[in-house]
Amino acid sequence: MKADLHCHSYYSDGTQSPALLVQRAIENQVTHLAITDHDCTAAFDEVLGDEVLGDEVPSGLTEISVINGVEISCGWESLEIHVVGLFVDHKNPELQTLLTMQQLARRQRVQAMNEKLEAQGTFGLLDSLEAMPCMAYTRSHVAHFLVSQGVCKTHQKAFKTHLAKRGKIYVASDWCGLAEAVFAIKAAGGIAVLAHPGRYPLNKVKLETLALAFKAVGGEALEGSYGNINPKVMQQLAQLAIKHGLYLSAGSDFHDPVARWTNIGRFPPLEQVNQEHAIWQHPIWQKRYCLAR
Ligand code: AMP
Ligand code: MN
Ligand code: MN
Ligand code: MN
Repeated sequence: MKADLHCHSYYSDGTQSPALLVQRAIENQVTHLAITDHDCTAAFDEVLGDEVLGDEVPSGLTEISVINGVEISCGWESLEIHVVGLFVDHKNPELQTLLTMQQLARRQRVQAMNEKLEAQGTFGLLDSLEAMPCMAYTRSHVAHFLVSQGVCKTHQKAFKTHLAKRGKIYVASDWCGLAEAVFAIKAAGGIAVLAHPGRYPLNKVKLETLALAFKAVGGEALEGSYGNINPKVMQQLAQLAIKHGLYLSAGSDFHDPVARWTNIGRFPPLEQVNQEHAIWQHPIWQKRYCLAR
């Protein structure tokens, strides 16, 4: 078994269709793929459970299980924290109500960024976004636009000069809280996972505070591995999860094949000694894949 439980399609800031992600996962010997777009589940109007509708049906589809997921942006203290939901019922009204609000907040943020950009003499951001299949507008889209217009040399530089806090067109985000995200994921029957905990600007003590706050509102797992994770951080995260009775999840956070150092299925596997804490031991996973067989 090889599970990749975090990636993005072109319905958020990935560049590929859900079907192409599934195809790539099959090519990379991934057996379980969760598509986890930012604040949006449109991928599952196309990819339904183990079935892919539409023209782009990947070959070898019976060898892979597609898991309905989402990645919800949350405000916690002064930080933006991401919560992944796995096995969510994408038609659940509580979940969709929250996602609609998040998508609206994203739209409003991008409009405010566009105003700042127009004041600086760059036009066309909103038109460029509307031409995409995207349902959740992200700063990553804005970064690509800035590069396409020659305003910034690279995507990275666009974040640095324009999109980061104190950047030229920075606009604060209005995200839901951790509790609301976890509540909606659980209402939709899913498992709430703290995404890439090592990527937040938090020291060890603060990270533990976050893990506890997440658990206190019903969070059940954290990502113990992802693309480019450092082995020391991986060890720390496993310890943190085990100490607080959280399951360990793992995923590539793949967005775009142009970033050649990332790929579906590409991240260090959870260590053998930590397998008993892996998310595949969670009752929801067991019920779906193990008990019925
Ligand atoms: P948003 O959720 O709209 O703030 O957009 C955040 C997305 O932009 C993340 O999910 C990443 O894919 C990407 N991103 C965030 N920070 C950076 C960065 N410094 N460089 C490149 N991409 C980034
Ligand atoms: Mn992203
Ligand atoms: Mn994230
Ligand atoms: Mn992500």
